[in-house]
Amino acid sequence: MSCLFCKIIDGSIPSTPVYQDALCYAFADINPQAPVHVLIVPREHLASLADAGAHHPALLGHLLWAAAQIAREKKLTSGYRVVLNTGHHGGQTVDHLHVHLLGGRSLAWPPG
Ligand code: AMP
Ligand code: ZN
Repeated sequence: MSCLFCKIIDGSIPSTPVYQDALCYAFADINPQAPVHVLIVPREHLASLADAGAHHPALLGHLLWAAAQIAREKKLTSGYRVVLNTGHHGGQTVDHLHVHLLGGRSLAWPPG
C-alpha cells in the first residue's frame, strides 16, 4: 500500500498524534493553516468522500464526532471549521479520506 495516510496510520511515517480509537486516527497537519489544524482519518483506506458506500454512514458520523471531541479537548470555544476536500476541484491532494479540523483563529468565508 503506497498511501501516505495508511503509512501514517501504521506508523511507518511519523506523525504527531492527537486522538485515536478503533475507527480513526487524528494527527497534526504538517503544514498548519491555523493554530489548531488536525487531520482525522479512518483506519480503513477510503480514497475520498466520493467513494463512500452504503456501509459508511456510521464511520463518517464517527469522524465528525471525533472532530467535535478534539475541538472540545482543544477548547475551541469560539468555534472552528471542519472541511472535507474531495477530488480535484475540491482541492484534495492525499487520496485517503481525511477531515480537516481548523481552529484557534477567525477563518474567512467563502473559500477560494
Ligand atoms: P488535502 O489538500 O485536503 O488533501 O489535505 C492534505 C493535507 O495533508 C494537507 O493539509 C497537508 O499539509 C497534509 N499532509 C501532507 N503530508 C503530511 C504528513 N506527512 N503529515 C501530516 N500532514 C500531512
Ligand atoms: Zn490510505
